[in-house]
Amino acid sequence: MLNEPMECPKCSKHTLIQRKSDLYECVNCDFERDFSQSIDEDYKEDESAGGGILAFFLVVFTVFAFL
Ligand SMILES: [Zn+2]
Repeated sequence: MLNEPMECPKCSKHTLIQRKSDLYECVNCDFERDFSQSIDEDYKEDESAGGGILAFFLVVFTVFAFL
């Protein structure tokens, strides 16, 4: 299944096509993007943002529990 071409961040043309489920390739330039890695990083960012708050509350509750 091929999706519509997306805008290539390198040449700014809508020639970025999906080669594999997580690999995008620009037909205009040699830009390649492996989303299996970059998405991982994005999710980690989101998780650390939410997890950071959760960890913060955990620390606060733990500190209060010991007081
Ligand atoms: Zn390109």
